[in-house]
Amino acid sequence: MIQPNISHIFKIVVIFLGIIFFSFALFNLSADVFNLNFVLLFVFTIFVVPRLTLKLPYSNFWASFSEPLIFITFIFFGGESAIILATFGMIANCYYLKSSGFSFKPPTILFNIFSSTLSTTIVYFAWVFIVQPISISQQFLSNRNLITSLGILALTQFLATSTLAALFYSLTQNISFWQTWKRDCFSSSMTQVIGAGMAGIIYKLVILADFLTSVVMFTIFTATYIYYRQSLSEINNAIKKAELSEREKAEAERSRAEQAEKHITELNKLLENEEQNNEVLRQSKKDLEHSVAHDFLTGLPNRLYLIERLGLLLELGIDISNKYFVMFLDLNRFKYINDNLGHTIGDRVLKLIGKRLTRLLRDEDTVARLGGDEFAIVLNNLSSIEEAQGIAKHIHEKLTQPLRLSGNLIFIDLNIGIAPFDVEHQKPEEILRDADIAMHFAKEKGCGVAVFTKELRASYLEKINLETDLRFAIEREELSMHYQPIISLQDGELIGFEALLRWNHPQRGFISPAQFIPIAEESGSIISITKWILCNTTKQLAQWQKLSGCENLIVSVNISGKHFADRGLFNDVSNALAISNLSPFALKLEITESAAMENAQQSIQILSRLKQIGVQLSIDDFGTGYSSLNYLHHLPFDTLKIDRSFVNATGENGENSEILQTIMSLANNLKMRVIAEGIETETQLALLQNLGCHYGQGYLMSKPLPKDEMEKLLYQKRNWLPFLQTNYDETTVNSSNQANLPVFLIDLI
Ligand code: C2E
Ligand code: MG
Ligand code: MG
Repeated sequence: MIQPNISHIFKIVVIFLGIIFFSFALFNLSADVFNLNFVLLFVFTIFVVPRLTLKLPYSNFWASFSEPLIFITFIFFGGESAIILATFGMIANCYYLKSSGFSFKPPTILFNIFSSTLSTTIVYFAWVFIVQPISISQQFLSNRNLITSLGILALTQFLATSTLAALFYSLTQNISFWQTWKRDCFSSSMTQVIGAGMAGIIYKLVILADFLTSVVMFTIFTATYIYYRQSLSEINNAIKKAELSEREKAEAERSRAEQAEKHITELNKLLENEEQNNEVLRQSKKDLEHSVAHDFLTGLPNRLYLIERLGLLLELGIDISNKYFVMFLDLNRFKYINDNLGHTIGDRVLKLIGKRLTRLLRDEDTVARLGGDEFAIVLNNLSSIEEAQGIAKHIHEKLTQPLRLSGNLIFIDLNIGIAPFDVEHQKPEEILRDADIAMHFAKEKGCGVAVFTKELRASYLEKINLETDLRFAIEREELSMHYQPIISLQDGELIGFEALLRWNHPQRGFISPAQFIPIAEESGSIISITKWILCNTTKQLAQWQKLSGCENLIVSVNISGKHFADRGLFNDVSNALAISNLSPFALKLEITESAAMENAQQSIQILSRLKQIGVQLSIDDFGTGYSSLNYLHHLPFDTLKIDRSFVNATGENGENSEILQTIMSLANNLKMRVIAEGIETETQLALLQNLGCHYGQGYLMSKPLPKDEMEKLLYQKRNWLPFLQTNYDETTVNSSNQANLPVFLIDLI
């Protein structure tokens, strides 16, 4: 801000002084000056000299030929004339340059004009105060005087002009005065030197020369000027070219730099993108790792994670045994929740259990969902197995509290097995298996929580072995059927048989159905076994019906709960009947009370379908489960089998017969016929007869017998009740103890 103001002031000062000195020169101009020579000189300066102006290379200055004329004017017409001539000469120069396309601002034009006035005034003072005092006569200038005078004029002119110009540039362009003077002004000194030289020659020619010499000299001047102009033009062109190539180079350099800058920016962007991609990759890898090791539903660690964790703990060996425990949790009847309330509620229950477990445990413990309704927990650093049991019981207590979800009150039941880490464990799966074994034991016993023992493992392994052997039992012909007669209690007539499965194990001998049927049910092999039984027994009965001539004989086949819930049961039954050609009325299916009540609605449908084709239906082990009277009424059973525990419970004098009595009246109300099983004594038989029980089976009449033995008895056409008694005391029947009756029985009574 300061510099432009100073340069303005400088310009104004120069212009102001120029105007003053121009006015001074004008006022002091002698009238003698105005002769033809001066007019010619003036005209030449105004119209010709501007056209001879040359641009000096490497400078902002223009070489004007006005200098020799100004110097000549000094010598011939005095300093005032020189100031006037210099001022007008500059006006003409500026005008010429402007009309040639040179861009000038009006203040710059004024500054140029009056700086020329001022510099010529300074030369004027040098002329007055230096040249004239050293007595240089204008008329008789010797060569020495002429050279000295012109030298002083040239030097003063150079100093004045260059100082004013350098000051102007240094102020306007903010460069040091010395640099500007050295770079732009120094080269213009030649203009003054040449101007002085030319002025000297012109002076000599005017004073001394004839016409021819003047022509020759003029020609030489012209030729020199043309050559000089040519050279300067070439130099200027070369400079322009050099400047252009310099500019192009700089431009290329700049664009290269820009390009490089752009590349760097792009590279940075690429690196940034790369970094972002890497971040995304890292994140998705993390997510993947998390999803691989976690359960999508509950967000808990999954089996894979748990196995890895157990593997790491097992590596610690003895250090953690008896301090670390694994718990195996399994929900009971979770399938029931899924089937009846829908999978969405089922999922929410699992999530809630996951959350509750996490809340109930410490941070250092690990809860994992193994799949389905199974969870596992690793308990760290406990003092004893009792502490682990305490935690398990607490979890059991908390989780069995009912949940309220979407308006449903849900009761969760679960079993927990606990296994301590043991040095014997080699693989994570082994400790998990032990906890699972303990859980199964808890389930079997219905105690909720159980701790693993080696005995449990032994019986579990035995079960596994049995399960495996059982799969091959049919093809190895180890299975056979025993038949127990079912007798009419009123007349001792044989009405049919209950087909009971027997397994003759090659190593273990006969294994009780009570032992292997649950294993077959658990493993699912019960379905293929029952298919075999259905085919086998229907064929057998068809044969016996023919041989004995008793076409009314029936065979009862036990159907497990698993098979009853299977969609294939209807087809399996139809198939067996079709193959054996047995009348459907001769086949009775025995379904336990608990299996029938498990899903009563579904039971009604299945049983109705079977009933439609004529198959008879019997409810087995009646009284041992919990029956809903409402459903019982709708289930299309033909007969009801009183569980042998009730028959067994009656004493010699008919004690505890109330239940039998009640079941009898219930069956009558439901219009079902009653079969009592497990009749071992004549008293029991007499009691049942007196109660009006229709049929019976038991060791008293016959144990279950192999096919051949049964066949023999069949041919004998024996009376199955040779010991029939009719004098039973009815009073014993009525003594009651209602406190032990099942719920539905109390309802009824
Ligand atoms: P269940 O269906 O209630 O069969 C009656 C059981 O009572 C038979 O035992 C039979 O031998 C036994 N029993 C009959 N009368 C007496 C008696 O007077 N005293 C005593 N103590 N027991 C008597 P078993 O054959 O051992 O069968 C036991 C259970 O195994 C059966 O009870 C039935 O639930 C199941 N079972 C047997 N065979 C089959 C089968 O083929 N399929 C299916 N699913 N289960 C079967
Ligand atoms: Mg049965
Ligand atoms: Mg039974």
